[in-house]
Amino acid sequence: MKFKDLKLTEPILRALSDKNYKKATPIQEKAIPVVLDGSDILGSAQTGTGKTAAFAIPIIQRISQADRDSKKIKLRALIMTPTRELAIQIDENIREYSKYLGLKHLVIFGGVKQGKQVKKLQSGVHILTATPGRLLDLHNQGFVDLNDLKIFVLDEADRMLDMGFIHDIKRLIKLLPRKRQSLFFSATLPKNIIKLSQEILENPVKIEVAQTSSTADTVAQEVYYTNANSKREMLLHIIEQRIDDQVLVFSRTKHGADKIVRFLKSNNFNAAAIHGNKSQNQRQAALKDFKKSQIQIMVATDIASRGIDIDKLQYVINYNIPNIAEDYVHRIGRTGRAGESGLAISICESEENVFIRNVEKLIGRRIPAVEDHPYPQTQQPMTERQKKEFNKEKERKKRERIAQHRARKKEKEERRSSNKSESKSSSRRKDKSGPTPKGKKPWNFKKSRRRKSK
Ligand code: AMP
Repeated sequence: MKFKDLKLTEPILRALSDKNYKKATPIQEKAIPVVLDGSDILGSAQTGTGKTAAFAIPIIQRISQADRDSKKIKLRALIMTPTRELAIQIDENIREYSKYLGLKHLVIFGGVKQGKQVKKLQSGVHILTATPGRLLDLHNQGFVDLNDLKIFVLDEADRMLDMGFIHDIKRLIKLLPRKRQSLFFSATLPKNIIKLSQEILENPVKIEVAQTSSTADTVAQEVYYTNANSKREMLLHIIEQRIDDQVLVFSRTKHGADKIVRFLKSNNFNAAAIHGNKSQNQRQAALKDFKKSQIQIMVATDIASRGIDIDKLQYVINYNIPNIAEDYVHRIGRTGRAGESGLAISICESEENVFIRNVEKLIGRRIPAVEDHPYPQTQQPMTERQKKEFNKEKERKKRERIAQHRARKKEKEERRSSNKSESKSSSRRKDKSGPTPKGKKPWNFKKSRRRKSK
């Protein structure tokens, strides 16, 4: 369906045409008329289906029409989303879709100083996109006025609950005006989500676009079975043989993501990690560089990946198979977005075979295995007893590493304090060596930065 058949106004149609959106995606086709009509929505939508535009476009239209003649800028729509990256992306989309309308919009999230956000809030905002913690915090401080709110959107509700935001959501609901329109979106709709939706929505129109357990048809999926100790080589092989563009690599842990990045860099690949241990600025900088194609390989953990939306991302690699099968669907939803084609490749070690089976059960199809590669899986999955032993040994090694780290730290501190007392006494003597010549670094910078070449 064309956008102009959805009764959208000219400035919005022009902005959509600038974005090169040719026709509405199924969720947009279904949701836009309902939102324009003022009804509540209970939406279940697969990632990458164009869900953001499905709620953002009609919200922009409604607010721009209702507030056309009003001089005072009032907060009319609040969009709550679980991660900062997702919040930023939603706000970016709002900026693009509303660029010919002059609506005020803002995104707020934690992990950064609040000053700039507060200043913008004070100058007036029509549409606010926020993560729960920062929103409640600024509301408590009196910087967010929710009294004139007309539309409330809860995005990625299932993820919100997974991330432990249930109490924040419940607190927030109490602060919203009773008379409002609410739009509730979730990738999955288990019982606890339905229960939460009932506390928020009134006679909602249910919109289901695709089975939440299904993966986009445009994404081809493959799996390489290998051994745990050849995963890194497997990854290199895949990147060299199969990937001719940017790729998003998923790691289960933050530490693992950093290790993969170090390995890729040592093999002269341009890679960066994005995960919860990085500061918000580091995450944003890495994401920006990736979007501008200045980074070829982005290594991400599941939570950080939630908001990643890169136009026409073709490739996703699962370096670990997620033990929660739904995460697989979310991960590969980063590619093949809005009808583009994509390829999702998984690297599976023997201990993860069971996770692949779970994913296959969830998506209702087999993931074809690539047999022809140099690192085939030869190991068997461990028995329960072996697993116990393995974990015990892992714990022991971890404790040993921590103890070594502490000992090294202590030794360093002792050395530093003895150096200090030594330098105090030596400074009393005359220093014959003289200062470092001006402009010259006391170490060989180039040498210390030199990378291993292939
Ligand atoms: P979302 O599911 O909201 O994360 O959107 C996924 C991607 O699809 C984003 O990059 C959007 O810019 C893009 N998109 C949304 N709607 C359309 C459309 N109608 N035509 C083409 N691309 C779209």
